[in-house]
Amino acid sequence: MYDILVIGGGPAGLTAATYARRAGKSVLILEKNAFGGQITWSPKVENFPGFLSIAGAELGDRLLEQAMEQGAEVELDTVTGLQAEGACFTAATEFGGTFQGRTAILATGARPRALGLAREEELVGSGICYCAVCDGAFYKGRDVAVSGGGNSALQDAMLLSESCRKVWLIHRRDSFRGEAKLVEALKARENVEFLLNARITQLLGQEALSGILVEQQGQSRQLEIEGLFVAIGHQPDHEAFASLLKLDPGGYADAGEDCLSPTPGLFVAGDCRAKSVRQLTTAVADGAVAALAACRYLDSL
Ligand code: NAP
Repeated sequence: MYDILVIGGGPAGLTAATYARRAGKSVLILEKNAFGGQITWSPKVENFPGFLSIAGAELGDRLLEQAMEQGAEVELDTVTGLQAEGACFTAATEFGGTFQGRTAILATGARPRALGLAREEELVGSGICYCAVCDGAFYKGRDVAVSGGGNSALQDAMLLSESCRKVWLIHRRDSFRGEAKLVEALKARENVEFLLNARITQLLGQEALSGILVEQQGQSRQLEIEGLFVAIGHQPDHEAFASLLKLDPGGYADAGEDCLSPTPGLFVAGDCRAKSVRQLTTAVADGAVAALAACRYLDSL
């Protein structure tokens, strides 16, 4: 049995593992997809202290390397359920494994939010994308649109404008949530056009996306595009653990800055926790707080 099971290998989970190992606790990190979490999709991270600019994937690699260097063990598998019986947490995984820990840290992050349009799910991979870094290259020389007004949408539009013929940036309001510097940089791009106070109402095309209908100021217009990159934020990814948590109305784990959950020995860190600022810096801060809280809990047993 491990001292700590860390579920989720993004910045919060990897930092938690590093802190816990440095406190002498045995740690297993369970990650379902890619170590580094959401940042692996960011082409450039320029607001993480100590780095002028670093590719998100490289930062993820470095966080993983640091945790492993400290002795954390890792397993690539999806945790499908977590049972708590006193100071024993049993994680069941998709590949049929079970792993036990005296404590557990949930750092499962969040997944991309969908627009909720008819046929959106069906067209994923055939025009509907949630990651410009992953899929942008497939749309080289084509016309595409990005939906959203946060940093992800702005960064996606910037990246796509480098290889696509035309990029429409469609946002439901007339001001952006993302950084003004990025907005200015996009305005300077000749192949980028903003559609503000605009709402996508329909996806067109049979086998693959061939266009969208957009409603703006009561008028509907058709855009002929082959790719729609949806970047409208994220939603928490912890349905499998909901019974052990208290959730806020948005579905985020209602744990405070101390990262404590209502289940003794279970801690919550990073983007899956209810908080006002979801940033890399707040995720790594949560990782440290949760790990030290778990260590204190273990020492008190
Ligand atoms: P976000 O900041 O929450 O922005 C989501 C955007 O999508 C908002 O503009 C929102 O519009 C819009 N939106 C939400 N639901 C919508 C819907 N149903 N239909 C249409 N539009 C909708 O999300 P994010 O851009 O993914 O960023 C998440 C966090 O990561 C942020 O804190 C961001 O700063 C950070 N981030 C950092 C970097 C970096 O390089 N450091 C890169 C990417 C992201 P409203 O504005 O009208 O609500």
